[in-house]
Amino acid sequence: MSEATQDTKKLLRVERLPAINSQLGKIIKNYLMKSKFMSSLPWKKTAWVTAGFPVELCYLFDIFPMHPENAACVAGTAKVSLKLIEYAESLGFSRDLCSYFKTNIGAVGKKVGIAQGAIGKPKFLASTNTICDTHVKWFQTQAREFKVPYFCFDIPVAVAGTDDARMEEYIDYVVDQFNEFIEFAGKITGKKFDENKFNTILQKSAKLSDLWQEIYEYRKLLPTPVSFQDTMAAIFPLVILPGLDIGISFYEALLKDIKERVAKNTGSLTKEQEKYRVLFEGIPMWYKIKFFHELANYGAIITYEPYTFSFGPKKKIGLPIDKQLRELARLIIDTPYNYAVEKRIKYFEKVIDDYKLDGIILHSNLSCRPSCTGMVDLKNAIQKDKGIPVWLMDCDMDDPRAYADEPMKNRMESFIELMASNKK
Ligand code: SF4
Repeated sequence: MSEATQDTKKLLRVERLPAINSQLGKIIKNYLMKSKFMSSLPWKKTAWVTAGFPVELCYLFDIFPMHPENAACVAGTAKVSLKLIEYAESLGFSRDLCSYFKTNIGAVGKKVGIAQGAIGKPKFLASTNTICDTHVKWFQTQAREFKVPYFCFDIPVAVAGTDDARMEEYIDYVVDQFNEFIEFAGKITGKKFDENKFNTILQKSAKLSDLWQEIYEYRKLLPTPVSFQDTMAAIFPLVILPGLDIGISFYEALLKDIKERVAKNTGSLTKEQEKYRVLFEGIPMWYKIKFFHELANYGAIITYEPYTFSFGPKKKIGLPIDKQLRELARLIIDTPYNYAVEKRIKYFEKVIDDYKLDGIILHSNLSCRPSCTGMVDLKNAIQKDKGIPVWLMDCDMDDPRAYADEPMKNRMESFIELMASNKK
């Protein structure tokens, strides 16, 4: 029997970091309960925000942020997203639309509980359009449903050929919108912009990112002490809690676990078990996390994800306020998902070297088309320049109708065989 046809029923155990098991559940539960409580208090200001929105601005004004994309992941892992998506489709939302969006439409319409993807009604909604135009249509739709205001940041895309002068103009444009948001949030909350408080929040946010980057540095080791099974869960504080202490202490606990693993010369799999180091690009299939355990059963471990890495960029802090806002604007524009394809290819190829990768999985996500643009070019360039297998995997993050077990298993086996023959 070849390596690629071994019995996947006897799954290898990918050891999660102990702090994830002991701390993360409590952090998420506490956040969800608080979210329910906050949205029930008429005087408490709550907002729905999206990925790519600077959540720190909410904490500055004591606005409690709620994250419908995260709630849609909860529905996916609870395996209830399909019934919510089908409900949204029964209202006329198309099969082609983002499954997070439809999960949220279903969660609101069917009034499910928080363990099934619901979040409380917000006092307003705020998003950017960075990477994603769905954010805008989604939040317009729900702002109309709730009859509450919606604030949208318009973020320019730094396409190929964007020079420094043009970038500075883009930053001016985004900073103007920060000032508009500060005025908007001030009116809603009755609070003034507090520079000292803002700096403290940004310091904590930067610290959280630094710890995330340190965690990633350890992933360069063989065997990797941190798998996607860890990062897909541990990303939660970076998405929702940047600027608070709770994420910092959790990441410090993760680093302690990682260092202990490294000292024992082992990893998420053991040195003997880890055969192939793989990059996974995109959002995981929340309803089928088993996929990653099945990969691990062939000795393939996900060692890098641009998606989770992108939530914790290096942040410059301690600048005068005008420069600090410019820096925040630069970060929102300069995200890997906004890169022109040439820059994206360079980014991937550097990661392949740094993390000693044997293969790449590009999740060509039916739902998240904006983040999949350029994947065919990316695949061709990596195969040509680096000579490693690239699996362009058609699927969906929250819609299980896009996932068929047997075809997926066949493709996984082919991918493993390609990596195996490439290593000979
Ligand atoms: S299209 Fe992608 S980025 Fe946009 S809301 Fe859906 S999952 Fe998020």
